[in-house]
Order: sequence, then C-alpha cells, then structure tokens
Amino acid sequence: MTDRIDLHAHTRHSDGSLEPAALVRLAAETGLAALAVTDHDTTAGFPAAAEAGTALGVEILCGVEISARFPARAMHLLAYGFDRREPRFMELLAETRGGRNRRNPRIVARLEELGVPVTMEEVRAESGGEVVGRPHIARAMVRRGYVPDTRAAFSQYLRDGGPAYVATESVEPAEVIAVVQRAGGVVVLAHPKQLRVEGPAALEAVVGDLAAAGLGGMEVMHPSHGSEDRAFFQALADRLGLVASGGSDFHGDTKPDVRLGSGKGDVDVRYATWEALRARCAARSA
Ligand code: AMP
Ligand code: ZN
Ligand code: FE
Ligand code: FE
Repeated sequence: MTDRIDLHAHTRHSDGSLEPAALVRLAAETGLAALAVTDHDTTAGFPAAAEAGTALGVEILCGVEISARFPARAMHLLAYGFDRREPRFMELLAETRGGRNRRNPRIVARLEELGVPVTMEEVRAESGGEVVGRPHIARAMVRRGYVPDTRAAFSQYLRDGGPAYVATESVEPAEVIAVVQRAGGVVVLAHPKQLRVEGPAALEAVVGDLAAAGLGGMEVMHPSHGSEDRAFFQALADRLGLVASGGSDFHGDTKPDVRLGSGKGDVDVRYATWEALRARCAARSA
C-alpha cells in the first residue's frame, strides 16, 4: 500500500485523451491512493471518476484547473475541496468556458488568414466534452496534414505569442480565489514556471500578491519544472507560507511523455500534501 497520489490530471472532458473511468483504472494500476481530476474549466468528469474510484478503491478528489487572466498568456489556478454545485462557483466556470468559446473562433480565423484553415466543427470533433482548447485545434491541424504532430502545431502557430495566438478574456486571479474560497475550496497556482515571469523578484511579487489574496499552495513538482525550478519554488512556497503541491498534469496521448503519478519520472506527491491543502479549505464539507 502506497500513499502516493496525483493532484493534477485531465480527461476527455477537457484536453486529456482518457475517459474518467479509464483514468481511474490507470490510477489503480499505478497504485495511487488518491487522484484529483482537474480538467480545464469543468468538473463534468468528476461523477464518473468518483463512481469508478469507489469500485476500484481509489479516492477521487474533485478538482478543476481554471484559466485566469494574466498578461499575454493565462494563469492556471487549480482548485480543490469546493462544493461543485455552489452557484457563484458554477457561474465562474461558465464564464471561463464562455471566454474559450469566444476565443476559439478567433484562433480559427487567424489560421484561415495564415493559409491553414480548419473549421470549428472539426475542432469540436476532437474534443470529448464541453471544453475546447488549443490542443483540439492542434489535433484538427494534424488531421488536415498541415503539421506532423500537435507539438509542431503549437511551435509554428498556436504557442503563447505565436502567429495564431489569441489571449483568453478571463477572470482576475483574485476573483477566482475569492469564489473558490466562498465555495469552501482552496486554490493552488499551477506550474508557476509557465507564467514566464522574468527574474525571481518579479515572480515573488506575482505569487506574493496571490498569497495575500488567499492562495493556498503552489505546484513545486511538475513535469515542466527542473530541479533548480523545484528548489526555487519550494523556497518561495516556504517563504510565503504556501503548501508545496504538485502533480503529473497527465493528459494521456495528448502528452505521451508524461505518466500518471510520476510525470517524466520525477514527480512524487504524497497523501500528506492533500491533507495540508484540505486543512486550508475555507469550509470542510462533512
Ligand atoms: P488553452 O487552454 O486552450 O489555452 O490550451 C492550453 C493547453 O495547451 C495547455 O494546458 C497544454 O496542455 C497545451 N499546450 C500549451 N502550450 C503547448 C505547447 N507549446 N506544446 C504542446 N501543448 C501545449
Ligand atoms: Zn490541458
Ligand atoms: Fe495548466
Ligand atoms: Fe493541467
């Protein structure tokens, strides 16, 4: 029996490749004690995952990865421990999904201008749920034969600041934190390295503002963080009194080099991390 867990994983309800039940089966095979399902801007995968978790003996945590506003890209905020039916919380996710729905056609229009057209029907067909994003656009481009793989679709067109990039209109991070807290949950800053804030002082200022707004933790272990990044973010979390969290950010075939529970081999998150986060939930549900 292990106490290894994974606090960051995606299903077909956003841009992962596995159905929730298949993700939970993989978690059981991997020997995880607990798994948080953290799709982008939706909790729709949770009920099926929870049912599979009960059958297979894996504790399933309801999570979500919310895209908040951040200059020239987005800030990903993970939330856990919330009441998924709390009205303002549901409204927040509807707002962030609305931002995506307005953005995707604008990206598709850019691609048409760039001579690599895809239709929104083709893009939606790549998604298994209500949340559509750039990875689905990338898959549609691969299917058309414009690029050999989704990695090339990102590097040539879709990456942050790339020729077909359109920023998402979204919600302020402080508002996300307030809404999640009101729904009884805790917020964790996902993969802080991907904010691409230059310099440790500037990064500390950004995370410090979030901590002042009620942030509960930040991801230290993540496949995109090397050992120096981890050391830096661990120290920053300690200084700011944040829970040092982490996860594999598993997406299935969408990111084939990342494995559930272990990422690229150096992610190792224990049940105590979830206990530390749970202790910061604004109101524990029974
Ligand atoms: P979106 O939420 O629509 O902005 O898409 C963001 C998602 O695209 C991230 O969660 C990643 O899974 C994926 N992604 C972002 N940048 C890249 C990249 N350079 N290569 C491959 N996938 C990426
Ligand atoms: Zn994703
Ligand atoms: Fe993310
Ligand atoms: Fe993620």
